[in-house]
Amino acid sequence: MDRFSKASTADADDGPDVHASTRALLHDAAQRAASYLESIGQRPVAPSAAAVAALLRLDAPLPAQGMDAQQTLAMLDQLVSPATMAMAGPRFFGFVIGGSLPAALAANWLAAAWDQNCGYYSITPGVARLEQSALRRLVALFELPEHTAAGFVTGATVANFTALAAARHAVLARVGWNVEADGLFGAPQITVIAGEEAHPTLLKSLGMLGLGRSRIVRVPVDGQGRMRPDELPPIKGPTILCLQAGNVNTGAFDPFGPLIERAHRDGAWVHVDGAFGLWAKATASLRHLAAGLEAADSWATDAHKWLNVPYDSGLAFVREAQALQAAMAITAEYLPQSGAERNPSDFTPELSRRARGVEVWTALQTLGRVGIAEMLERNCRQARRFAAGLSAKGYAILNDVALNQVLVSFGDDARTRRVVARLQADGTCWCGITVWQGHTAMRISICNWSTGDADVELSLEAMLRAAASV
Ligand SMILES: *Cc1c(COP(=O)(O)O)cnc(C)c1O
Repeated sequence: MDRFSKASTADADDGPDVHASTRALLHDAAQRAASYLESIGQRPVAPSAAAVAALLRLDAPLPAQGMDAQQTLAMLDQLVSPATMAMAGPRFFGFVIGGSLPAALAANWLAAAWDQNCGYYSITPGVARLEQSALRRLVALFELPEHTAAGFVTGATVANFTALAAARHAVLARVGWNVEADGLFGAPQITVIAGEEAHPTLLKSLGMLGLGRSRIVRVPVDGQGRMRPDELPPIKGPTILCLQAGNVNTGAFDPFGPLIERAHRDGAWVHVDGAFGLWAKATASLRHLAAGLEAADSWATDAHKWLNVPYDSGLAFVREAQALQAAMAITAEYLPQSGAERNPSDFTPELSRRARGVEVWTALQTLGRVGIAEMLERNCRQARRFAAGLSAKGYAILNDVALNQVLVSFGDDARTRRVVARLQADGTCWCGITVWQGHTAMRISICNWSTGDADVELSLEAMLRAAASV
């Protein structure tokens, strides 16, 4: 370090001590963040109309002179913190949204300070190795084949995109077509098959890959949204079958065993969208729901959902490493050539990206197998408690509550919508609306590490209060 002491003091000559002001700024940010998190369980979950209206101040044009950093941070905190939805808190049950484990949040800050461009092993060996370790642990946790390759991406949408790009490569390579070099113009047709209840982002990924959102063969599903094996069409030629682990409404899983067996017999590639359902593999009591999915060829999941790490964090897994690399790797003269080590950018659409694996590794390390299982099982138990409490008062539960999702109807469409509006305005908790196979329902999704049983009771009371008042 001594060698560089001159350079460090030169900085200081330019003005006030940059180290001291950086430290003060980071300390200030930490204090503000801690205060935010400490109060999040005490405030209404949705932001107030006044807080949202105050955001108009952000419309001011760019000032000629920059504002002092600490003042700017204070402005952010005063203006934006009250206008946030309390997604990090224990009683937000919309979408399928985790919070951030404190350890994952802290690791995110440290990694941001490292500011590593995580494209190449030889340039950033620390984080590249850490990500590799996290991926190996996940492959084992999900019981995927040992040599499965994987990449860290922004979320399940891009994880689906990435894995399906590998699928597109492989099914066309088998018929002698190089899609990376020659594109899809003039290529042999690919048949894509997906269930009627596939997530809309899966269809978007297929669209981005040139496989079309509308030309997908859709397979009928049962009352839980599971693909019906008896409805699987005949498979011929290059084919990708897209299955699902965890329906976004019901939490249901496709019957992987018979579907994958049929598809593989007929030469199709099988992809599984397991944005949150893949995590069922990580615990003995839920594993049976996901049984058989390990026989597929690729998988997508999110870490920012049930692992409770900060956004944006998704994962794409592909059994045949070569297919993923063929779809994602680039070479250019100025870029370091691949050596023996794994280059992260050979497995992702991005070249430059933050080392999002740091938080994943940290979450895994601090929870351990037991902690992960406990978190998942707790959320599922809480889902069952919601369902029991609501059905005891006569409200209809529309799904089998086998995972962390609950669909409840408070009567007809209009009445259910009024109850949900009342509940959202009440502020105790936040749930969204969905239409499940023609029936309007309130959706409760529980995947936050910080949701305690007392939060569930408080929220259940608020739901029953809202329902009684309509
Ligand atoms: C959430 C979800 C997605 C999309 O994930 P993002 O992380 O929002 O991109 C895809 N499929 C399923 C089943 C999901 O639940």
